Amino acid sequence: HRHLGHATVASVGDALAAGELHAEMPDWQRLAGYREGNGYALLAACRAGEVGVDELTRMLEEAGLRGLGGAGFATFKKWGFVRAEPGPRYCAINADEGEPGTFKDRYYLERSPHCFLEGALVSAWAVEAEALYIYLRDEYPALHQVLREAIRELETAGLVDPGHIVLRRGAGAYICGEESAMIESLEGKPGKPRHRPPFVAQRGLFDRPTLVNNVETVYWIPPIWARGADWFAGHGRHGRKGLRSFSVSGRVKNPGVHLAPAGITLNELVEEYAGGMQEGHELLAYLPGGASGGILPAHKADIPLDFDTLQPHDSFIGSAAVIVLSDQDDLRAVATNLLAFFADESCGQCTPCRVGTEKMLALLERDTWNLAELDRLSRVMMDASICGLGQAAPNPVLGLLKDFRDVLADQNVIVRG
Ligand code: SF4
Repeated sequence: HRHLGHATVASVGDALAAGELHAEMPDWQRLAGYREGNGYALLAACRAGEVGVDELTRMLEEAGLRGLGGAGFATFKKWGFVRAEPGPRYCAINADEGEPGTFKDRYYLERSPHCFLEGALVSAWAVEAEALYIYLRDEYPALHQVLREAIRELETAGLVDPGHIVLRRGAGAYICGEESAMIESLEGKPGKPRHRPPFVAQRGLFDRPTLVNNVETVYWIPPIWARGADWFAGHGRHGRKGLRSFSVSGRVKNPGVHLAPAGITLNELVEEYAGGMQEGHELLAYLPGGASGGILPAHKADIPLDFDTLQPHDSFIGSAAVIVLSDQDDLRAVATNLLAFFADESCGQCTPCRVGTEKMLALLERDTWNLAELDRLSRVMMDASICGLGQAAPNPVLGLLKDFRDVLADQNVIVRG
């Protein structure tokens, strides 16, 4: 993509409206550049009472903005839930971005930290939060510097009171991307997911009602305000609405973050955005939602990719991390790699996940896969694990057993039972 020295909220919109769906982004935009393009005008309008919460809430509803960290929960509803609880309240932004294959939040944070910060500050304003916490993954040290600098710029310019934005660093645990584990970690405790209810909207950070949003979700608030809800909702294919930032990796010619209409199919995404398959590679399978979202075969590459569309196929889009596999990839290696990841990242709090992931990995390393055992173990993990890690860990294996029996046989994996 072309890099513009001073891309603005409006120019991102113009690029998209012109049909060029990849946002033109600066390498690193400072406060002055962002303000030249009307940056922080929305925040100022909110604070001055020119824009009300109800108006913004309606705008988010009309735009169809949903939680882009992976859960897809309607953003306007979340605002409502938190606002319904008595104060004091907090806002916490999840910048942990640990799902394998996902790198879109990094893309936006690196290039336009102020667009993100404005969206985050508007969200915090909307729920009358006492403070805005940002939980950034430890593996993004350069971003820590970028955000620190951007926050300093805001404080120096008098746009934010010193101490209102609290930037916290994670410590490398995947599970801290789970919102209640992130809250625990923000409180200085080990990152272990909480039982729900109560939900974090009711009792989150320091036991207070907390709005937790993903980086990209709040990033879109200023452009949606600048361009209108219809502009965002006007994109989309196959009956879906909105824009999705696909982190595309694997056997394609142009991997990277591709901003594309919600509901685009894998075939369309690869051909139109990712430059097609690499020479000599034929599509075999794809993971639509990183490590947790399951695995789908080439003959299911015409399904619209969005929240709600993949459940019938036992998959989900999550944070839209699309990993493309080809006929040259070894499916047993894919399965063991993913299970080893889950086993390593399990917080160990509950037995179905702590023991289940290790047991499943051991079963997958055998020459013969025992279908009944894998099936039974999967069911226990999905039904009895506390959080999404243990519940989703069997997804790739179940997908392989469902749609790839022939390929597994060709690759010398015998499935019995
Ligand atoms: Fe921890 Fe796994 Fe249980 Fe989640 S499912 S709470 S990661 S042990």
